[in-house]
Amino acid sequence: MNTGTETKIPVATSGCLLGEEVRYDSGHKHDRYLTQTLGQFFEFHSFCPEMAIGLGTPREPIRLVATPDGISVRGSSTPDADHTAAMRAYGEQAAIRLEELGVCGYIFKKGSPSCGLFRVKVYHGDIPRPEGRGIFADEITRRLPLIPCEEEGRLCDPVLRDNFVERVFVCHRWRRFLADSPTPGRLVEFHTRHKFILLAHDEPVYRRLGRMVASTGRADFPQLCQEYISDLMIALQRPATRKQHTNVLEHIAGHFKAALDSEDKLELGELIRAYNTGLVPLIVPITLLKHYLRRFPSEYIARQYYIDPHPAELMLRNRI
Ligand code: SF4
Repeated sequence: MNTGTETKIPVATSGCLLGEEVRYDSGHKHDRYLTQTLGQFFEFHSFCPEMAIGLGTPREPIRLVATPDGISVRGSSTPDADHTAAMRAYGEQAAIRLEELGVCGYIFKKGSPSCGLFRVKVYHGDIPRPEGRGIFADEITRRLPLIPCEEEGRLCDPVLRDNFVERVFVCHRWRRFLADSPTPGRLVEFHTRHKFILLAHDEPVYRRLGRMVASTGRADFPQLCQEYISDLMIALQRPATRKQHTNVLEHIAGHFKAALDSEDKLELGELIRAYNTGLVPLIVPITLLKHYLRRFPSEYIARQYYIDPHPAELMLRNRI
């Protein structure tokens, strides 16, 4: 495996998704994909902001409410009970803890007025509109903008799932890079090994970051690292399209051009086209390219994280 990690990666999640009975009705929302599949590679750290601010179980459900001063989170039948300040204060505290733990991702519970990331209901009087973000999730994403975040519901989408897990692994490799005496030379190496991953998401950003890491004469190396990882993680947020993957596959195939005979070249070209038109998933041309990599070793290609961005056991590329 070329994912660059041998230990479980710390990832935070809403406690109810791990099966903890912390919901308002004393229930949970255990998500077995997290605990049984992703849990093989991620070490989950649970957070329940509503329990943390002392709401207890069972409790009155809370909801987001539009007010003249912005969005607040209040009791659904006791609108005078405003939990916004307590929730934001806990978010600040939790963000510090997340950094101490070195988490490389956060999986939030969808729809929650505390933990939901997208389209959480905001009440305008009695009318709910799906336009908000949970107060706790808002605080975490504002304070830690580079940590990959996703909702458990969206992880059912194969493209979003692949994208999230890929970003968690990139984030983890970055934390390891920082922890292990980073130097300008090692930053160039980090960038080079992520070339095809970045190319699949955003070619202009790949080129711009290449120029950035080449400016190794800069005295402000820590600042350069900050700018680099910020641009990289933002570029990776937009999932790679089939067309962009096809472009990368053709780049890699180009490295074997001289070694392959005309039949092999034809077969590889056909498989890449089959992927491009949706006839086969990404794993199919990747598997053939890995076969050629074994037959015609290339250190440059073998060191690309694009070849194995995450563990094969997750089978993420079998569905995209
Ligand atoms: S969604 Fe968040 S606040 Fe609600 S029970 Fe789950 S962890 Fe707690």
